[in-house]
Amino acid sequence: MPELPEVETVANGVHARVHGQTIQSIWTSNKPQTFKSTPEVISETLTGSRIERVHRVGKTIVVDLKRSGMEAQFLVHLGMTGRLLVSEPDVPIPPHTHAVLSLSGGRELRFVDARRFGRLSVLTTHEEDDQPYSGPGKEPLLISPPDFIALFRGRKTPIKAALLNQSLLHGVGNIYADEGLFRAGIRPKRQAGRLTRAELGRLREALITVLKHAIELGGSSVSDYVDADGVRGFFQLEHRVYMRTGQPCLVCSTPIKKIVVGGRSTHFCPVCQQ
Ligand SMILES: [Zn+2]
Repeated sequence: MPELPEVETVANGVHARVHGQTIQSIWTSNKPQTFKSTPEVISETLTGSRIERVHRVGKTIVVDLKRSGMEAQFLVHLGMTGRLLVSEPDVPIPPHTHAVLSLSGGRELRFVDARRFGRLSVLTTHEEDDQPYSGPGKEPLLISPPDFIALFRGRKTPIKAALLNQSLLHGVGNIYADEGLFRAGIRPKRQAGRLTRAELGRLREALITVLKHAIELGGSSVSDYVDADGVRGFFQLEHRVYMRTGQPCLVCSTPIKKIVVGGRSTHFCPVCQQ
């Protein structure tokens, strides 16, 4: 499952290649799971629209569209296996392709998704009451320290589970929750509402640092991702605890432990994290 850095990497890569171009036509597979808006509505909204910007909100890729007074957003959720590829039209369409947008620059933007947990939808934003897509929770890279602390007030769940709750903070998944808690020195099972302000302040900074670092590393593999097949190279990111069960902690050499919190495997150092 791609997390915030992977989604941001893809969004930035796609933006660099397609912004300013007009969608001339669209083909859709019409598989019901994939289309949260109907293929007809998506086709009607996208055809003839100019791509103003491609960016990330939470774990969703948002394509801002404009067409003669109408503004809309095309939302792409990658799910488990979704990929957004910018391809030359003569490159064969891969299996499990669900949407092909033909662009004025001559290339195609393709959505490919083998397991079909990904979702495509549109949102019109031209009416006065319409709000642009803001995601299910707060943005981890932008949230202020007081707002971050307030998110966890009174919560009885373990902090690890609270970090994965997308309606609180969106975009953080299993990898960056574990890595953020390690860097902040906090045990994953601690009750979220009982963490001190200082601990939550450290956690916010640790999350921002690890997410930004991952975005920087991801940036180097963007062209591979967009032009070919997958987040190749991205996992060069050096995890300090995630999937390092039994290996020595990079700070104190104690073996990294694995436990289950909220149904998810969780990795931590029993000495560095208290
Ligand atoms: Zn340690």
